[in-house]
Amino acid sequence: MSERKVNFNPGPAALPLDVLKTVQSELLDFQGSGMSILESSHRAKEFEAVNDRAIELVREVLGLSADYHVLFMGGGASTQFALIPMNFVGEGQTAAYVDTGSFANKAMKEAQNITNVHVAFNGKEEKYRRMPAMDDIKYPSDAAYVHICSNNTIEGTQFHQFPNTGNVPLVADMSSDIASRQLDYSQFSLIYAGAQKNLGPSGVTLVIVRDDFLATARKDVPTILSHKTHADNKSLYNTPPVFGIYIMKLVLDWIQSNGGLAGVEKLNAAKKDLLYGAIDSAPDFYKGAAEKAARSWMNVTMRLPDEELEARFVADAKKEGILGIKGHRSVGGIRFSIYNAVTLADIQKTVDFMDKFRKSA
Ligand code: PMP
Repeated sequence: MSERKVNFNPGPAALPLDVLKTVQSELLDFQGSGMSILESSHRAKEFEAVNDRAIELVREVLGLSADYHVLFMGGGASTQFALIPMNFVGEGQTAAYVDTGSFANKAMKEAQNITNVHVAFNGKEEKYRRMPAMDDIKYPSDAAYVHICSNNTIEGTQFHQFPNTGNVPLVADMSSDIASRQLDYSQFSLIYAGAQKNLGPSGVTLVIVRDDFLATARKDVPTILSHKTHADNKSLYNTPPVFGIYIMKLVLDWIQSNGGLAGVEKLNAAKKDLLYGAIDSAPDFYKGAAEKAARSWMNVTMRLPDEELEARFVADAKKEGILGIKGHRSVGGIRFSIYNAVTLADIQKTVDFMDKFRKSA
């Protein structure tokens, strides 16, 4: 086998090597069943046990109480952009959206196709370089919910403190930072995340919804598009994304065996300190793209003095086995997506490369 690369892909992204090895070892014969998990029925006891344990693990790892439903849905986070306003904005109500980045904006635009939207914060005019202070976020007290994106994957900014919305439910797109740090997850009424960054492969979307919020859901939504349908059926109303759920379970096992979110957070802190440290130590050459206070622990974005140097940086990194660092096509520059499965050794190798590249440029 060729050597595995340093993988900074933004999603689908690096998975823990131990998880991939388990998948490989179980692929042809899942736990003595004589078939792979891909081939067994979603109603078979083998899969049901995986599904049940994955639900339990989400609760254990995130520290959620029993009044949260854990759903595994299809369609990616983008489908939730539509399903959330469809399900949770009542007749004549308004939903509030905090616009801190490209995906937050997409979620808001989709909601505008469906319902009344109040813009609770507009970061677009400042090119999404900073995050709002808590009192910059304004919304009507009778809003159906306040929607935020906890980590802005493209811009490399992140909420490090969350608004206290009191009686107004707080809804978060955590696609790019779920399970990366310790948080009071109980401040959210609903959380959703495409799995393909921190939790597993693409094709499964984790949705966590608290019972009191689910009770407010509309009844006039098509069965398959209703969160309640999936909550009432442990995500087995129809055929779920079985392989994704299985891998998510393995990733959650891996998080638990690495000290849970406390262990993961410690490692992620060391990773981002090393990488931002390298950027800040050469300010005439590397420039962090986001305002310092807003910097993401998951997506580290930076610029070089010009685009030609950026292109060379990407090409030279590739020769060293460092991949997936070209910034999103909408913003350019360089982006290192340093999700949970990226190791400290990967970052050290990258920092060494950055130093060498700068000196040779
Ligand atoms: N929200 C965020 C924060 C994302 O980073 C992404 C994908 N990169 C999405 C939503 C869209 O997710 P999906 O492709 O699963 O629809």
